[in-house]
Amino acid sequence: MSAAMETKLHLAQGDLHNHSVTDLAALLRARKVSAVEAAQHFLSRIQSHTNLGAFLSVDEDATLAQARAADARLAAGTAGALEGVPLAHKDIFVTRDWPSTAGSKMLSGYRSPFDATVVSRLKDAGAVNLGKLNCDEFAMGSSNENSAQCPVGFIAPEPVKNPWDLSRIPGGSSGGSAAAVAARLTPAATGTDTGGSIRQPASFCGITGIKPTYGRASRYGMIAFASSLDQAGPMARTAQDCALLLSTMCGPDPDRDSTSLDLPAEDFSRQLNDSLEGLRIGVPEEFFGEGLSTDVRAAVDSALKTYEKLGAKLVRISLPRTELSIPVYYIIAPAEASSNLSRFDGVKFGHRAAQYTDLGDMYQKTRTEGFGDEVKRRIMIGTYVLSHGYYDAYYLQAQKIRRMIAADFQQAFQRCDLIAGPVAPTVAWKIGEKSDDPVANYLADIFTLPASLAGLPGMSVPVGFGANAMPVGMQLIGNYFCEGQLLNTAHRFQLETDWHNRKPAGV
Ligand code: GLN
Repeated sequence: MSAAMETKLHLAQGDLHNHSVTDLAALLRARKVSAVEAAQHFLSRIQSHTNLGAFLSVDEDATLAQARAADARLAAGTAGALEGVPLAHKDIFVTRDWPSTAGSKMLSGYRSPFDATVVSRLKDAGAVNLGKLNCDEFAMGSSNENSAQCPVGFIAPEPVKNPWDLSRIPGGSSGGSAAAVAARLTPAATGTDTGGSIRQPASFCGITGIKPTYGRASRYGMIAFASSLDQAGPMARTAQDCALLLSTMCGPDPDRDSTSLDLPAEDFSRQLNDSLEGLRIGVPEEFFGEGLSTDVRAAVDSALKTYEKLGAKLVRISLPRTELSIPVYYIIAPAEASSNLSRFDGVKFGHRAAQYTDLGDMYQKTRTEGFGDEVKRRIMIGTYVLSHGYYDAYYLQAQKIRRMIAADFQQAFQRCDLIAGPVAPTVAWKIGEKSDDPVANYLADIFTLPASLAGLPGMSVPVGFGANAMPVGMQLIGNYFCEGQLLNTAHRFQLETDWHNRKPAGV
């Protein structure tokens, strides 16, 4: 090898964590760096940043085995679209070679006999798994303070830290994913979004994330929270990377998830670089009311101005039931959770109480010990709203309003092509600040819940910094199946701005 080539290789390696997924895939394909070198680079970053609490499990041997297999395919010329690219999975996805805990004590040490469909699709494209990422227990939360699992480097459960300010939460429930991408411990991660869990942590950590239309990505092997809302999506630094990853993650899975859509896999990068000239961006007045902090508003307003410069037109719209999305979601999601979590009874999965007198006692002790406070709260709410006598008053009523929320969006989309607004009312708060107040956490979900209830695609794009120099994300919501257009709208913004390239001090 020539001296010049060696220097290039050296530069590429020392700097690998600063490359996007798109660049890394190209470097790997050109054999400028090997999959094993890339995996080693990120594994060593994970080890030197355990203070963030982002990872719940790493297994160097399993990662390097995948990397060696990727190198063999690269050498043989049979490489997939993501061959050798390292990434990491939220611990809500089951994986055969790593433990799968959903952040719950209930699943401590659980090993799945199979990979989730999203995990196997990424693996089939050549991606190399770096490990499993911390999250709120069963994805219930907005701050990642609800994880009952002990992160790598700790001996007891520990909240994930926001890399921009270690005294603050990274958001949730995909908080480990967002913190790891922001700290460049992995070029990208998977997340899941039931009521905002991709968009809100992406916003709080200054990265990009997308939740596709409900049904785009298979839920098979995603440990269920609220099945009519749960969706998987990628979290990365750029919209371009999200497009590449989403194209691999989505696709029909009729034998395993009956709600997966019967649509052919799509290349979401296809529309990148479409002009925004004449694009009608709907700005919902309900997203800019009193509840929105002035710093977040300023960053979002300035992003909207950038869009106007790019040729888009802003259209004032109304989503009149925005506020109702909180009670509706916090009836429907717990109702579904109470049903989904009934499978954790100590018989088939994970934890079982050590001592009990009879079967009933075994169920009770197992569930008392295995579930955390927030999960128990939701099981109680869910059981209550589904019970005879309250079903009509709460659950059925919530279902009706859910339909109206979806209809409000369709009315709005007659006047605009996509919708823009804040992801969350404030920037990331301090660890512990809201941990004793579940309702305060629920209220902070106000802007992400409507799109979730309607099953629409939504994303978060970094648009600046607010109070305490914390990142602010803008939410873009598209109509059904318009992920390509959403990603392009975010991509064009990222060509104009460099918020997505900023990195926390010390990273
Ligand atoms: N914060 C919401 C909740 O606690 C959303 C969580 C999610 O999307 N998984 O339910």
